[in-house]
Amino acid sequence: MTEIAASQPLTEPTGTAVPSSVPTHWYNLAADLPEPCPPALHPGTREPLGPEDLAPLFPMALIEQEVSTERWVEIPQTVREIYGRWRPSPLIRADRLERALGTPARIYYKYEGVSPAGSHKPNTAVAQAYYNAVEGTRKLTTETGAGQWGASLSLACSLLGLECEVWQVRASYDSKPYRRFQMETYGGVCHPSPSDLTESGRAILAADPDTTGSLGMAISEAVEVAAQDPEAHYALGSVLNHVLLHQSVIGIEALEQLDSIGESADIVFGCAGGGSNLAGLTFPFIGRNLRDGATTRVVACEPAACPSLTQGEYRYDHGDVAGLTPLLKMHTLGKDFVPPPIHAGGLRYHGMAPMVSHALELGLLSATAIEQDDAFRAGIEFARAEGIIPAPESTHAVAAAMAHARAATTDETIVIGLSGNGVLDLVAYEDYL
Ligand SMILES: *Cc1c(COP(=O)(O)O)cnc(C)c1O
Repeated sequence: MTEIAASQPLTEPTGTAVPSSVPTHWYNLAADLPEPCPPALHPGTREPLGPEDLAPLFPMALIEQEVSTERWVEIPQTVREIYGRWRPSPLIRADRLERALGTPARIYYKYEGVSPAGSHKPNTAVAQAYYNAVEGTRKLTTETGAGQWGASLSLACSLLGLECEVWQVRASYDSKPYRRFQMETYGGVCHPSPSDLTESGRAILAADPDTTGSLGMAISEAVEVAAQDPEAHYALGSVLNHVLLHQSVIGIEALEQLDSIGESADIVFGCAGGGSNLAGLTFPFIGRNLRDGATTRVVACEPAACPSLTQGEYRYDHGDVAGLTPLLKMHTLGKDFVPPPIHAGGLRYHGMAPMVSHALELGLLSATAIEQDDAFRAGIEFARAEGIIPAPESTHAVAAAMAHARAATTDETIVIGLSGNGVLDLVAYEDYL
């Protein structure tokens, strides 16, 4: 054990050994895109955003990453040390599922449920908390749907010595208290959204006192509080380029894990809410397709109840209801879209990451929409064959991959992004059963 002096800042490495298979760099697809992604626009002027527009909300290091076209971005040693607590995450052969399906295909899943929060979200939460702590931020604000992001950011803030204040979509706040208990255990403070603590929340409540809330509303509240407090910044758990960048550790590891057993993926399935776990797993594969002529296919799997990629328009839209956030070119159902309160709370966002949307337009990936019943049925089959209960979000990728494997006639290699485990979402399974 290394002795750590109490006065040593939490952002300093402790010197603990990190497994060499934890990546040293994040991968940025922007470096390999045949056409650049359309820029984010200022909500007032509709001109491309400058760093000064984002400075009230984000630390400079993340603003630079947001517009970076560098292919490899070094991961700070402190972040690698924290990743090393659960990374590399396992790549597991789903041999028992293969047998249950009677498929000639080989199925692997990259399992992000081993993180302390139970999903991929800490991969970016830790990085965002780190850069904020280094630049002197005292508090981070954010929104959360089902609560995974709020729990992940609370976890990261506790590790790096920041306060964390979370606005949680009212429908989930009322029906899914366990994530809130997780946030509070890590020292986070969680409010139901819309709340009467912000101007945007009060305006929404005045117009519709009984609203169940939406991620777009919660974002408005969290952004408003961060923008007004010089010591606070805002953190987003998906959608933005720097979030996708941090998540690339998933795919970098998966590529190496497949290489090390002489495998190469023919097709990769990931679930898509805002697009971060999908991009994290698949962009390193797409980059290799673009650079080396590999031919791995990528399928984004979204809920039929919130189908931004398969049904949304590709246009500039706001990320939030109040229109405080920049305009992003993305597949969107419209900022005022309030999805039905489906179980897969993490997939209820009205838009999609601009870089994922752009990749779909360029034909670098495809998309499919999965009905909720099919997703849960697949999740239960997966759990009974493999032992892991997938997060309700992840079951969308599982369902699409299982349908593909059932129809397979050759020994192709399938990779599933298992973005999280469902142990805190068992009520959703119970409702289905
Ligand atoms: C939040 C979440 C998602 C959806 O978010 P993305 O940004 O699309 O990855 C998917 N799976 C799990 C387990 C989540 O917690």
